[in-house]
Amino acid sequence: MRASAPIVDGLFTWPADEPRLLGGRCNECGTITFPQQSGCPKCGAQSLDEHMLATRGRLWAWTTQEFPPPAPPFAGVSGRDFEPFGVGYVELPGELRVETRLTEHRADHLRIGMEMELVIVPFGTDDDGIERVTFAFRPVDEAGVVDGD
Ligand SMILES: [Zn+2]
Repeated sequence: MRASAPIVDGLFTWPADEPRLLGGRCNECGTITFPQQSGCPKCGAQSLDEHMLATRGRLWAWTTQEFPPPAPPFAGVSGRDFEPFGVGYVELPGELRVETRLTEHRADHLRIGMEMELVIVPFGTDDDGIERVTFAFRPVDEAGVVDGD
């Protein structure tokens, strides 16, 4: 297995069999943040604990990226190898809305409110030859998972 590393440290647990996004939870008011912050955006408290976010939520809003963004700042796969992707917000119940890449970009495969789950996806290879990975959400139905817990 080739070495892989997150695009930014501290965003999610990696390597991991069941990766989780790493947020923060305010010890004073319970507000949850992602990514982690040094202070609570709601009450200003400086005491936040690491909080692993839920891996499933509902699609809240989305759009698609059909062409490579300008690089820099875009550092992902560009040129002929670029593949369109979705971007959007996934609402994690009782936590927050995460701004995220989506594995799906076909408009007829995305709908507001559909169940989504966290996945870790390749992002590109950096100058040192290390494969970088980032997080994304994919439709649960697409993964062949039957709804109904
Ligand atoms: Zn707070």
